[in-house]
Amino acid sequence: MQRFTCDCGNVLFFGSFRCLKCGGEVGHDPGSRQMVRVRTGGMFKRCDNGVKHGVCNWVLPSKAAETLCLACDMNRTIPDLSSSRNLMLWGRMEMAKRRLIYTLRKMDISLPSKKANPQAGLAFDIVSTVSNPTVTTGHLNGVITVNLEEADDTYRQINRQQLGENSRTLLGHFRHESAHYLWQRCLSELAWDNPLRLAFRERFGDEWQDYAAALSRHYQKGAPAGWEQQYITGYAASHPWEDWAETWAHYLQIIEGLETSECLGIDIRNLALPLVMLPAEAGALPAGLPQDSKADGDFLAWLQRWMCVSTVLNEISHSIGEAPLYPFVIPVRVAQKLRLAHHYAQVWGGAAGIEN
Ligand SMILES: [Zn+2]
Ligand SMILES: [Zn+2]
Ligand SMILES: [Zn+2]
Repeated sequence: MQRFTCDCGNVLFFGSFRCLKCGGEVGHDPGSRQMVRVRTGGMFKRCDNGVKHGVCNWVLPSKAAETLCLACDMNRTIPDLSSSRNLMLWGRMEMAKRRLIYTLRKMDISLPSKKANPQAGLAFDIVSTVSNPTVTTGHLNGVITVNLEEADDTYRQINRQQLGENSRTLLGHFRHESAHYLWQRCLSELAWDNPLRLAFRERFGDEWQDYAAALSRHYQKGAPAGWEQQYITGYAASHPWEDWAETWAHYLQIIEGLETSECLGIDIRNLALPLVMLPAEAGALPAGLPQDSKADGDFLAWLQRWMCVSTVLNEISHSIGEAPLYPFVIPVRVAQKLRLAHHYAQVWGGAAGIEN
């Protein structure tokens, strides 16, 4: 996430509605990816979900006929707002969703709404299992469904412990499901022997293996011993599609984590840490894809920067008595998968985040 500043010079955050110093009303403009002033007669108006429910700080041009911002306009189902608890949980969901949309747009990955493009577009169903017990978080044909209850910290932590996960966040859910959506839109449409699909199979495995059987095996037996050498999470070991989704979610996490640290002035050259040197094969692309040695080098340098920054994050977490903020290890096999995710990002968009 970049650094935002108010006209008055004070710092603003991605979720700010108001400047804490000058009191001016502000909102986020997804077009310029900047925080802007919201004032009567000004260039921008607030999204209706901000005006009526206080759950969105994005804006749209004052002249626009629409009343919802581009993120809220992608909602197909929202929770029952007669419950104040639902409203609070929904606000957390929308925040995580806007962060995902911000990142993908920054990477120049097109993100049409399903309303505008029923074939390739994306929509969200945000539904509570309290009123719809059969709902599960997932993606189907351009619709990402998320269980509203996951925004309840206690509920999510219980799920995390029962599933043996190191980390479980709302943003992680949105990033993970975006991978399934992009797979279906960008990869499943290609011929089976397209190099991008063959590369997928080489890195993640044969996607034709029975998905339902693989998931039921995972939930019965858990991840196989030694999964840490090949996968970023235990769940990634369940099926190639889930491996891809966990890898992509992790790739986006590093993109944002590193951008934030760099925009806030953390310079790894000033850190009292040796640079973790990754072997060259960690940045290799599968055979069949054009091997770009410069991009491989950039990728490795990028990943090494993240390893330094995440070490600092974890040491600070320990110092204040908390669990590690970044409970992950990246073995060579996972670095190679992240490298392929980066390649896809370049093919699909502009892959902002790995320059220099
Ligand atoms: Zn201000
Ligand atoms: Zn909105
Ligand atoms: Zn999944």
